[in-house]
Amino acid sequence: MDLQDRLTAARHRIQEACRRSGRNPEELRIIAITKYTTLEVTEQILQLGVSDIGESRWQDARTKWQTLGALGTWHFIGHLQTNKVKDVVGKFDYIHSLDRLSLAEEIEKKAAALQTAVNCFIQVNVSGEQTKQGVSPEGLFTFAEQIAGMEHLRIAGLMTMAPHEADPEATRPVFKRLRELRGELNARSVLKYEVTGLSMGMSNDFEVAVEEGATWLRLGSVLFGS
Ligand SMILES: *Cc1c(COP(=O)(O)O)cnc(C)c1O
Repeated sequence: MDLQDRLTAARHRIQEACRRSGRNPEELRIIAITKYTTLEVTEQILQLGVSDIGESRWQDARTKWQTLGALGTWHFIGHLQTNKVKDVVGKFDYIHSLDRLSLAEEIEKKAAALQTAVNCFIQVNVSGEQTKQGVSPEGLFTFAEQIAGMEHLRIAGLMTMAPHEADPEATRPVFKRLRELRGELNARSVLKYEVTGLSMGMSNDFEVAVEEGATWLRLGSVLFGS
């Protein structure tokens, strides 16, 4: 299968998951995770109409962004060290890995200096795995309160990574919990505005994530091969 075929197949699977769960496919966007692909392949996926591009390290993203930056919307999905914030703010439209106060403070500072706002997803470690980043579900509300006054951060939603499961169905409780946490965050009015986004679902488990309400799917290997 070539890239076009794999994209068509993934879109079909998303549509089927939407149909099963009574969702409108227009509520969802695919972010093509290009971290393991070349500049040429990244250009191809843009040409195929996927305009959201995700990368997890600035070193790997740099050439792609410098060449293709204006053609898409850029998402930073990897763990972000505080000293790398300067590379990302002003270039990436979304940061999916906001997971600690020191990082929020640094993004706020850099965004203020550039007089821009940065869309951020708060990463939540729903599964509690030691190897995963993110605030704990219990710590989410305190964290959101701490950053609520930061005028250059716009909280676009919540993000999580489910454990890799042989049976994707096993990830469902993780995605369901993230959706419930979004509801609770809004019900408590921790932020001055409603938080709408759910960044969840990867190649192995995106259909389950769609069924549980994902609005942003982060797809790598299902599009580009492994
Ligand atoms: C690499 C990566 C993805 C894409 O993973 P695939 O399994 O290849 O779809 C999604 N989200 C994050 C945070 C990643 O690091």
